[in-house]
Amino acid sequence: MDRRPVVAGNWKMHGSRAENTRLIDSLLEGVEAPRAEVLVCPPFPYLAEVVRAVKGSPVQVGAQSLCAESQGAFTGEVAGAMLRDVGCSHVIVGHSERRALYAEDDALVARKFLAAQAAGLVPVLCVGETLEERERGATAEVILRQLDAVIAVAGVQAFARSLLAYEPVWAIGTGKTASPAQAQEVHAMLRARITEKDAILGGQLRILYGGSVKASNAAELFAQPDVDGGLVGGASLQAEEFLRVVAAA
Ligand code: PEP
Repeated sequence: MDRRPVVAGNWKMHGSRAENTRLIDSLLEGVEAPRAEVLVCPPFPYLAEVVRAVKGSPVQVGAQSLCAESQGAFTGEVAGAMLRDVGCSHVIVGHSERRALYAEDDALVARKFLAAQAAGLVPVLCVGETLEERERGATAEVILRQLDAVIAVAGVQAFARSLLAYEPVWAIGTGKTASPAQAQEVHAMLRARITEKDAILGGQLRILYGGSVKASNAAELFAQPDVDGGLVGGASLQAEEFLRVVAAA
């Protein structure tokens, strides 16, 4: 099954107009005709400007979150339709920082997933266990619970228009990466869950790995049969490093 890999950069709450311009200029210089789909996810205020900057290039733009509601009195929130309106194609939902720091539970993540698709955005659904959960042997239970919560609300067919990302919480921003074997084991479990409901979809779904991906470890992670690219935080803020991750895909 030929699944085109995806490399997505999550800039988190970093950057400025000047820094973004430098980063995007360098990315565009090096990113001609990549084999992988390439996506950058800047903070909200910069989305429209980054969309304009990458126009005509292979780079797509996603947001890091969205509101579960479509419009109305939700001060400080951003609707999926607004993200689409400024040219975003994707949006991250269920990132562990949103789950842990902003109390986004499985039910809210599922609603955000639906809101993203209703707005015509491709959700990048993140799942992952904490170190404590891994150490007590609860990895499978946690990641499948997080996935099932979305399947229950959106249906498995919704994954035809979605990306999935396995991001072990203990590996995000810590410099600790899951070993290729650890990543593969979890990716295979996630794929099996989709496959048991729809075999064709299970074979087509792209599952990204995230957690301290960088140029030096990307190739061996991406070589795993069920790893279809990466969701990259820190290393996506340096053009040269990010381009090497893209090249590894
Ligand atoms: C992330 O932001 O989703 C992430 C995986 O970060 P990092 O690559 O810095 O661990």
